[in-house]
Amino acid sequence: MIARLSPNSELDSCSFATRRANLCSAGVGGTIVRFAMLRRAHTRFLFVLLILALFVPLRAKASSQSELAYGPLPVFELHSGFWVNLHHTLYHQARLRKDAASPDKTGKTPGPALKTPAETKPAYTAAEQKAWDDAVSYYAANLAAKDLLFSSELVELKNQLSDFEDCDELTGKTKKFCDAGLPPKLAQALEAAAPVYRAHLWPDHDRANRRWILRVAPLVIEQGVGLSERLADIYETHWPRQKIRVDVAAYANLAGAYTTLDPQRVTIASLDSRNQDAEALEVLFHEASHGIAEPVQDAIIRECRQRDKAIPRDLWHALIFYTTGEVIRPVLASSDATAAGKLDLRSAASTSESSSTTTFGSSATSSRENTRSTSAAGYTPYALREGLYERGWKNYLDVLQRFWQPYLDGRATFSDAIARMVSSL
Ligand SMILES: [Zn+2]
Repeated sequence: MIARLSPNSELDSCSFATRRANLCSAGVGGTIVRFAMLRRAHTRFLFVLLILALFVPLRAKASSQSELAYGPLPVFELHSGFWVNLHHTLYHQARLRKDAASPDKTGKTPGPALKTPAETKPAYTAAEQKAWDDAVSYYAANLAAKDLLFSSELVELKNQLSDFEDCDELTGKTKKFCDAGLPPKLAQALEAAAPVYRAHLWPDHDRANRRWILRVAPLVIEQGVGLSERLADIYETHWPRQKIRVDVAAYANLAGAYTTLDPQRVTIASLDSRNQDAEALEVLFHEASHGIAEPVQDAIIRECRQRDKAIPRDLWHALIFYTTGEVIRPVLASSDATAAGKLDLRSAASTSESSSTTTFGSSATSSRENTRSTSAAGYTPYALREGLYERGWKNYLDVLQRFWQPYLDGRATFSDAIARMVSSL
């Protein structure tokens, strides 16, 4: 695989801010350098985006997909946007093409891998095939070697495509405010691929996204505020005032979800098996926690410096995995939405497709008799389920259980818990 994350950089690994905080140790250095270089290289691009951003408020504010279905959700704003989905699909296919052309022969332990079902190749016409292949080729040549999380170019592009989700085109041909200010060849590739995507893959992708949104929205409505307050309290900080934008896309990065900061935005793969059912709630709050975990990172660094110890690689990340999992576990067990709903994705999807004004009540009722693969009472947090502690975090689970859990239970202070974890590693 190309530009794999290191085995320890599980999942979304580190958000931008945490990378900049130099907490992710050795393998990250190159990324930081690359980030700085790209910053300079894209100054002009950024300037163009800045100017164009002035036009954005002129257009009508888009309603998120969740708002269409439920009215405003607390904490999150969930979207299924066309351009973001096209972008991630082209990136995904370009990566597959590059991987096929140059398979990894290093024998290194593989990092996180996509957990999405293989899609049936659409029946393209010859013209559609050429347009699609050309767009994939553009991505393979220009973007596929860059990381969705660590490349400022890709982060800015993803954010820009999110902001223009209501536009049918990106160059301002028909509406001036739809000029996204993208590099001409990139805009051309996206616009040429758009009708092909819209005709073939997008209907299924949008359906999967809406299904995912409908599935998780009742849990967010019921538990979102409480979970956000609890997590902010744990990290001794404040939850963001603005709702966190979540772009639900058929594909995300290899981890299945990632978070970029300034502004904080989450991208989650709706087709990824790791993000389904009740687990979706944990993925949402894990990703959101990337934006508020700075006090943990600061405390770990402070303790390490006081003890003249190396900063344990990704300890902060293991900690937010552990914390989100432990906070979510009892919530899911007692959740009305989980217990009564046992929402089935297929059922929710058929409801969502029939109307853009589906209500929470109707979707819950229609799917009540269905079963889910995850029993809330026996909910297994993500890190345990995906075996993250066995992959480079062997000691972390032990110290989290011994020293961090007492803090979560109110039997220790934040600083004591961090100090004891650091001194034990
Ligand atoms: Zn993470």
